[in-house]
Amino acid sequence: MLNFTVGPVMSDDDILSIGSEQVPYFRTPEFSNLMFENERLIKKFSKASEDSRAVFITGSGTASMEAVIMNCFNENDKVLIVNGGSFGHRFVELCQIHHIPYDEILCTTGKTLRKEQLESYDGKKYTGFLVNVHETSTGVHYDMNMISEFCKKNKLFLVVDAISSFLADDFDMENLGVDVMITGSQKALACPPGISIIVLSKNAIGRIESNDCQCMYLNLKSALKNGERGQTPFTPAVGILRQIHKRLNQIEDNGGVETETQKIQSLAEDFREKIKDLPLEIVSDSMSNAVTPLHPLNVSAYDVFMILKDEYNIWVCPNGGELADKIFRVGHIGALTKEDNTTLINALHDLVNRGLL
Ligand SMILES: *Cc1c(COP(=O)(O)O)cnc(C)c1O
Repeated sequence: MLNFTVGPVMSDDDILSIGSEQVPYFRTPEFSNLMFENERLIKKFSKASEDSRAVFITGSGTASMEAVIMNCFNENDKVLIVNGGSFGHRFVELCQIHHIPYDEILCTTGKTLRKEQLESYDGKKYTGFLVNVHETSTGVHYDMNMISEFCKKNKLFLVVDAISSFLADDFDMENLGVDVMITGSQKALACPPGISIIVLSKNAIGRIESNDCQCMYLNLKSALKNGERGQTPFTPAVGILRQIHKRLNQIEDNGGVETETQKIQSLAEDFREKIKDLPLEIVSDSMSNAVTPLHPLNVSAYDVFMILKDEYNIWVCPNGGELADKIFRVGHIGALTKEDNTTLINALHDLVNRGLL
């Protein structure tokens, strides 16, 4: 199997072999030390300030999105949500469920957020801003500098879902003034799904401490408290946390986050260069290094996904809903190489020869 989806993605052999080991008991100093190191490296790679914290939630990315909504906001807030696709819409649904007042800024599919759109919300008494920096469903990457400036000016508590962007695109939590950054194990971290991670600024920790969160499993006060001793309130996905530990150390030993981001960027550039003579159109005006969203000019996108999977054992990422026939996406995260890109390109040329692309 050759997997170009946007998660779960391919893991390398070191990570896979940990998956075949026995899962150890975890209320031990050894596991606490592993968790301290996980926290230290996640903070380092997200460029969080020294006084921030990272907590590890057993649950996919959405669990951490929900935890942040429940723990950082209440009915006295009013948040602005950038909604450019299904992940932006997820923040909207979470605010509805948890009774957090909100307004949404709708972005057209494939189009980034423009400065003029933001300006109409200037000086309007919002308290928070929620954005999926890379709206993975459409492959649009928003301009974080522009958003950061707007939030600093309006003193907004800034939450960034960087689940598919972390490690793939440059990100500096402290300089951007980001209060909360969320990521997950199955995107560029290239581990199995099951763990999501929340990095919290000092300001965010203060908000959590003074907020009354009516939830047991996703209570971040208790996650922070337990994290002080390198532990989690309940049994975490121990095996995946061990894989994350290995992966973070690999990245550190290979030159750190910059080297990893460059690797993903060069895979993306290589792919985007190689598709130039194929009947495929890139449908985003501002892309992340993580994904290339493509519109086949002559055939159904969903059919391309199915044929590649069933006849070539190559997995690209289909879109859902009304985009299903229009767009498929090719990911550049996970244990992939330029040779893998060539294998996919050859398969796409073969489809052209067969009249199927
Ligand atoms: C993958 C992803 C999520 C999380 O989805 P889960 O299925 O809950 O892991 C959230 N936001 C974005 C932008 C994502 O790419």
